[in-house]
Amino acid sequence: MNIFMKKILCFVFAAIIFTGCTANAVPAEKNVFAMDTYMKLSAYGENGEKALNAAAEKIAVLEGLWSVTDEGSEIYAVNRSGGKPVTVSPETAAALALSLQISEVTGGALDCTVYPVLAEWGFTTGKYQIPDEERLAALLENIGYENVSLSGHTVTVPDGTQIDLGAVGKGFAGDVLAEIMAENGVTSALLDLGGNIQAIGAKPDGSPWRIGLRDPFGEGIFAALELTDCAAVTSGGYERYFIGEDGERYCHIIDPASGKPVRSGLASATVVGDSGGLCDALSTAIFVMGLENASDLWRSQPDFEMVLVAEDGEIYITEGLENSFHLMGEFSAKTVTIIR
Ligand code: ADP
Ligand code: MG
Repeated sequence: MNIFMKKILCFVFAAIIFTGCTANAVPAEKNVFAMDTYMKLSAYGENGEKALNAAAEKIAVLEGLWSVTDEGSEIYAVNRSGGKPVTVSPETAAALALSLQISEVTGGALDCTVYPVLAEWGFTTGKYQIPDEERLAALLENIGYENVSLSGHTVTVPDGTQIDLGAVGKGFAGDVLAEIMAENGVTSALLDLGGNIQAIGAKPDGSPWRIGLRDPFGEGIFAALELTDCAAVTSGGYERYFIGEDGERYCHIIDPASGKPVRSGLASATVVGDSGGLCDALSTAIFVMGLENASDLWRSQPDFEMVLVAEDGEIYITEGLENSFHLMGEFSAKTVTIIR
């Protein structure tokens, strides 16, 4: 064998070893408990571990800014400001701006000022109760995203109004982490922020990530979504709820119009799109809006897709997901209605 042949053989072996390595690559992994949920982060490639460490640090920073109960948080400062302007970090300003923008687009279905009502129902303390109508009416006087003024990085809310970024925070964090992955040269990662999925690129072998969608009526998965480089966020009434003395089920997403836990006919709403923040904001709003209004919104806004499960068990997906949505197991024979 001449030297030239030897070089070629070496190159072929190196290529086999290299591609073999990436196909079977083991990701760096990190589990984090933050923002009231378990997060599971995995990233492939040589900088995976470094990127995930940076990601975990950033999550802690964002939680520190947005916690409603932590006395050192920016949201805590806004909620105790007595109507005075408060200057916040660029991240808080951006997350709040997103929330306010989606409130506008969804006719107030998303509203970052519902916090006092949520607290009255006991969702913040676990001391659940059904408030009386008078009490709710009094609280509703201070509810309304229009009361929040954001100018640059300065937030002003009237005395009595309180804000909470719970409906957008995890998704927004997903976008921030996506930037951290990019800065570290990570091109393949799956960031599960408590069911808020941020998919970075594709799997190392180039195939799409498969994301399981929770059956809102049971423990299993009813479908899988094949996704590349995008976010998928689910809101539902099945994770945090209580059963009232009247035997009714009350979930942690509030209809800002009534001050009551949502009964929109939906059991869960999953939104898929480029931005985690947008998907998170929309998934909460769409859960409030229900099938018809959400379908109208989708027809007027080209930048997202959705999977809706109605309380009667019917499944709806928007046209753009037709090729990436797959029913699983016992659900395989169900009919799916395509929203067009
Ligand atoms: P989760 O964060 O539980 O995955 P969501 O993104 O739908 O689900 O956010 C729900 C959280 O948002 C609630 O726990 C509460 O803090 C807040 N919230 C509830 N109802 C609304 C609403 N209509 N608009 C904005 N925020 C809400
Ligand atoms: Mg949300």
